[in-house]
Parts: sequence; structure tokens; C-alpha cells
Amino acid sequence: MLNTIIGYPRIGGKRELKFALEKYFKHEIPAEELKSVAAQIRKQHYGYFAEQNIDLVPCGDFSFYDNLLDTALQFGIIPERYVKSGLNDLDTYFAMARGVQTDSVDLKALPMKKWFNTNYHYIEPEFDGKNVVKFNPVFLSGLIDEANELKLNYKVAQTGPFTLLKLVKYVAGTSVNDLRDALVSEYVEFLDFCRSKNASFVSFAEPSLVKDLTAEDKQLFVEIYRKLLSVKGNLKIGLDTYFGDIRDIYNEVTSLGFDAISLDFREGRKTFDLIRANGFPKDTVLVAGLINGKNIWRSNYDTVIKALDELKSLGINCALGCSCSLLHVPESTEFETKLSAKILSYLSFARQKLAELNEIKAIVNGDSGADKFLADNRALFSVKRVEDDAALDAKIASLTEADFTRLPERTERLRIQHDVLGLPLFPTTTIGSFPQTAQIRALRRDFKNGAITRQAYEDGIAALTVDCLRLQEELGLDVLVHGEFERNDMVEYFGEKLDGYIFTQNGWVQSYGSRCVKPPVIWGNVTRKEAMTVKMSAFANSKSDKDVKGMLTGPVTIFNWSFPREDLPVKTSIQQLALALRDEVLDLEKAGIRIIQIDEAALKEKLPLRRSDWESEYLDFAIPAFRLVHSGVKPETQIHTHMCYSEFNEIIPWIDAMDADVITFEASRSDFAVLDALKANNFKTEVGPGVYDIHSPRVPSVDEIVNALKLIVSREDYHKVWVNPDCGLKTRGNEETKKSLQNLVEAAKILRSQY
Ligand code: GLN
Ligand code: ZN
Repeated sequence: MLNTIIGYPRIGGKRELKFALEKYFKHEIPAEELKSVAAQIRKQHYGYFAEQNIDLVPCGDFSFYDNLLDTALQFGIIPERYVKSGLNDLDTYFAMARGVQTDSVDLKALPMKKWFNTNYHYIEPEFDGKNVVKFNPVFLSGLIDEANELKLNYKVAQTGPFTLLKLVKYVAGTSVNDLRDALVSEYVEFLDFCRSKNASFVSFAEPSLVKDLTAEDKQLFVEIYRKLLSVKGNLKIGLDTYFGDIRDIYNEVTSLGFDAISLDFREGRKTFDLIRANGFPKDTVLVAGLINGKNIWRSNYDTVIKALDELKSLGINCALGCSCSLLHVPESTEFETKLSAKILSYLSFARQKLAELNEIKAIVNGDSGADKFLADNRALFSVKRVEDDAALDAKIASLTEADFTRLPERTERLRIQHDVLGLPLFPTTTIGSFPQTAQIRALRRDFKNGAITRQAYEDGIAALTVDCLRLQEELGLDVLVHGEFERNDMVEYFGEKLDGYIFTQNGWVQSYGSRCVKPPVIWGNVTRKEAMTVKMSAFANSKSDKDVKGMLTGPVTIFNWSFPREDLPVKTSIQQLALALRDEVLDLEKAGIRIIQIDEAALKEKLPLRRSDWESEYLDFAIPAFRLVHSGVKPETQIHTHMCYSEFNEIIPWIDAMDADVITFEASRSDFAVLDALKANNFKTEVGPGVYDIHSPRVPSVDEIVNALKLIVSREDYHKVWVNPDCGLKTRGNEETKKSLQNLVEAAKILRSQY
């Protein structure tokens, strides 16, 4: 049995690529130096692959910014405005990725989108009909030369034409049909090119196959690959699918004559059933994605081997692989110096997963010495990693419908809240954070380095909080926030205070381009050791006559931005978080906080890719979990929630079913498109559609905000409307924040005078 991988993280074990990119963007290093850093990273990775006897290694999975953008560039899907800029290939590429502003060129970036159900973001290519669709091996040529020089046994990893066609944005009245034929011809050119370079294997990534497919989609896929496979000549052609199973097109895919097909056995819940029911072609290698490419736990070798045995008993020619590219896990545990040996023995990042592929292959092939690998792995799994928490389990088991139901119903509550809170029409508020200036970052750094005492740090934060409250009072905002100066991150802050979480020092995962995130790890049962935000919220509330919102991150968002456990159902993990937050909410209420905001910025993130799975696999427990957090409060306590992207159009009824009293959300960046959808769904929650975009330092004028509000009240009952920015203000500067909020308050006053 052989093994292979789909892709490897490219940011570098110490984020070398990130730092080189940032320097290049600031013109601190020339392109040559950036390229040489990238080459060193790849060389190191090829070394790791060799060490772990990876039989077929990917070449072309490397990217300076994003693979889909590489593919678009390579096939000439470059909007005319970028072509005209006269920049060289590399800078045209970066202009599409992040925009460019010089004396002679001023171009915005292409939009960034979430990559399937991950926290990775791709750049959305744009087809305008004027593009010269032509294959040009911009970066690929050098990558193949490099692999040839190193005498690697490699596959050219390439985003497939079907996924590219599905993800391109068609503008200027164009559609798939205007691009497909030209694109397929150029993919034929690409295959010719690979052959001319003496490549022997090409693998096409087609993750779009795991989504719901229409008859036209299937026909498109089949026609494209009939063509490509008919001209393969002496090349071997593989197909990589991941992030789910390919239930809609399994039979078509398996009858086309691919040399290898990767299937995802982790997120692909139906993969095994599909194989059992329909068989698998004898002359195709099944790359069984049995090792989880998305999570950071060591695999249970017995489970993997059992699956391989069954596949072999079905007469299938198997290779071992990961469920998806390793892009979604950190590079290596070797950089973790603070975690215990016990914890480390359970963690497996990308480099450790290579070792797993090697060890399991050795066991299956009966290599000498392989017994020890199996024995070690069995020893690890023979003991329970974390003890059960019987009290917590009992608490969850005893939850009834009443725990998920807030009473009285919303209209009744809102009436009571309006009396108690005494807010004006069009109440003004902000989303939570205020500018995190250099001063605050220095304070945090000094405390972390031990340069100042805890007391000095806390005093510093308290002083900033009071200043922030004074500012909001001067501005005339109605509902205040404490500013979140004590928080560096909306998930890590809670993770650190909860039992059950662990943190890595270097577990960085690429989010987009040069940006990485370091998700905390849910290690055990999550419980609240002590109140997490009550002291700060009560302090802030005591310092103003106005209401200051309690500020929490919701259970689903905390979960979605963490590495989850694999030995516990997602639903249970989210319920544990919800119970911990429920106690916090009740404590905040006890401390006199009358308005509590529970952010669910990442609610949409793990919505299943297939419509038919939305409820059963996610919404049926994610939405009730949010209700569990707040259902215990008194009718007069007002619950707010906040969401970053108004891309929740498709799930509006479920958002309403979270049963919050008020929701604030990002709206101005998407031209308030969500308002029509809210109206169409008869949305009941009070709404604060953000009236200005906080991603730019631009100060919105009073007129602009008044116009936004007029648009809002043309769609929403004005009694229900709140006035607030799109999102938190932490990335903004003090001056622009002050001016923007001044205008926001002024605009709300104008609206009030008219109603
Ligand atoms: N309360 C958080 C803040 O204002 C919300 C952040 C977010 O939505 N991403 O920073
Ligand atoms: Zn937000």
C-alpha cells in the first residue's frame, strides 16, 4: 500500500512566508527574496515528505496567497483592469489579492470568500468576458522544475476546472457557458505542458463535488472530464474530493476512468456506504482519506486499519491519505514547549500526520519494526484521554424543552423592556470593542512580559474603560459598552477562563494570504471555573448612569473557532459551552446588568455544505444552544446578539429562532441587501443593521447615515430599529471613531425628530 497527501501548509513552521510577504508588501525586500524564502520552505517540506516515505508528493499546492487565485491567474481569468495596470505577473497577482494603490495605479482587491466549511478564505476570481483565457504556467513552471531537480515522485496538484467554474464570479452579463469551452481547451494545454515537463501524474482538486449538485452540474463535470481524460496520453490523472462525500455524482465519477480518486472518509459521512453499495473500479486507486486533515488529534490506528481492511476485502486497490489538504492544521507540534508530554502525545499537526501515514503504511505492509508503531498507538488509546464529568453529563441529560425556551414570548418581553429601560426611539449603541491603540497593546505586552504587576495592568485597563465610558456619554450614545480593552481575542479570552481548554504557542493556521489564526483546543469537558466577565461588566456599569452592556461570545462561535474534540459529539461540546455561558449570563443579571450581548459572529461558519444536512447536522442544536444560554433571564433583561456577515439571508428564520431581543449585524458593506430578506421572512427580533462600514478609516457623514436609516425604516417597522456601526471598533483609530460616532448620534436624532 502506498500513501500520499493532497496538500501541506505553506505558511512555514515559524510563519516564515507570512513575514516575508509582509516585508515584500512594505517594499522592504525584493521579489527575489520572497521567492527564495518560499523555495526554502518547500525544500524543507519535501525533506519532511522524504523522511516519512510519502510515496506521491504534491507539487503545485504551494501558493504565495491563494490556490484558487493562482489557478485564475494561470488560465488568464484576470479582469481587464488588472491586466491594464501594467504590473508584472507577481504584482498583478497581489493586486487581485489585496488591491494596490500607487501614484499610477489604484485598484481594489477582488472579494474574499470563505473556503467551503473552513476558516480559510479564497480570493474570488472574476470573469468579465474580456479576459484572454490562455494557459500560462506563471508560477507552476518553476515549481515543476524544482520537483524535477529534486527527483521527487510528485503529482502536479491543480484546482480542477469544475470547481473553478463554480467559484468564479461572472460579471458583465457573462455566465459559465461563456467560459467553459475556452477554459477546458486551456486545461488541455495545461496537460500538454505537464507532459512536456516530464510530469507523470496530475491531480485535480474538485471540492465542489461534495455540495448539492444539479443535473446540469453533473453534466458539466462529466463533459469536462471526458474531454480531459481522453487526451491524457501517458499521464496519470487523479481526482481529489474533500470536505464531504460525493453522493450526487459517485457513479459518474467512478466510471470516468480516473487513475486515482481521493475520497473523504471523515466528513464524508456517506463515503463508505457509497462504496459498499456501488463498488469501486478495479483499475482506479482509491486514496482513502482516513486521517483527519482538519483536526489536530492523533489517529487511532486500529480504526484506520480496520477501514483499510474492509476496503481491501472489497477488492479495492487502496492508498492511504488524509481527508483533505493539511492546510487547515498547524505545521508541527515540535515548536510547542509549554504543553505537557501527555498532551503532546495526543496532538498531531501536519508534520506528525506525515508520520502517521508512514507508520500505518508500514503496519499494513508488514514492515519490520512496524509492530511497535501499532503497540504505541494502542497504548495511547487504551486509556481514556479525559475523565467523564458525571455531574455535567447529568446536567445535560436532564435538560428539557423548558431550558431552551425563554418566557414570556418576545413581544411581551419587549414591552416590559421598553418600560424598564426607557430608551428613546432609534437607540444608539456600538458592538463592543473600542480602538485597541498602541497604548493598550503595550500595556498587555508589559504585563505578559512581567514588566508591570497585575495590579498596574488592571488599573490601566480600568482607567481606559472609564475614559471610554466618558467618551460614549459625551457623544450621547444610549446604550454603552465597556470597550473590551481586557480582551485580545473574542474566543481566546473565554477559552483561557474556562476549564477544558488548552492553548498552543505556535499552532498557526492560514486564514487568508499572510493572515493566520491560532485556534484554542477543546481538550476536555468545558465548565466555568469562575465568573469570567462579571467583575469588569459590573465595574463599568457602576461608572455610568446609562446601561452598559454585558458582553459575551456565544457557544457556537467559541466552538467554531476552536479545534474540537473528536471523542464527543459536536452537539454535546456546544451544550457544555452553552451551560457555562448560561451561568455567566445569570451572574451578570444578578450583578445588575440589564442588557447582555452574546456575539455569534461565526454562526454561519459550520453550516453544512448540503442543504439537506442543515437542520439535522447543525441548526437543530446550534440554535437551541444559544437559547439555552439566555433562557433563564428575567423578562426585563434584554438579550442582544451580533453577527458579522449579513450573509445569513438563507437562514433568517433560524436567526429569529435564537429568540434574542435585539440583533445587530453587518449590513452597510453589503448595501443592506439583507433588509429585503428580513422583511420577506417577517423577522421579529429588533434590528440594528450596521449603518457604516468599520473596515475603513473613512468617517461617514451625517447625511450618509441618515440615508442608510431611511432605507432601513423603509423596510422595517421604525419602532424596532437600533442605530449602530457594522461591527466592533477595535481595528479603528480614536479620532475617526469619535467623529464617526458623533455623526451616528446626530443622524439618530434627526430620525427621531421625524417620527
Ligand atoms: N463584541 C465584539 C467586538 O466588538 C464583536 C466582534 C465581532 O463581531 N467579530 O469586538
Ligand atoms: Zn462583528
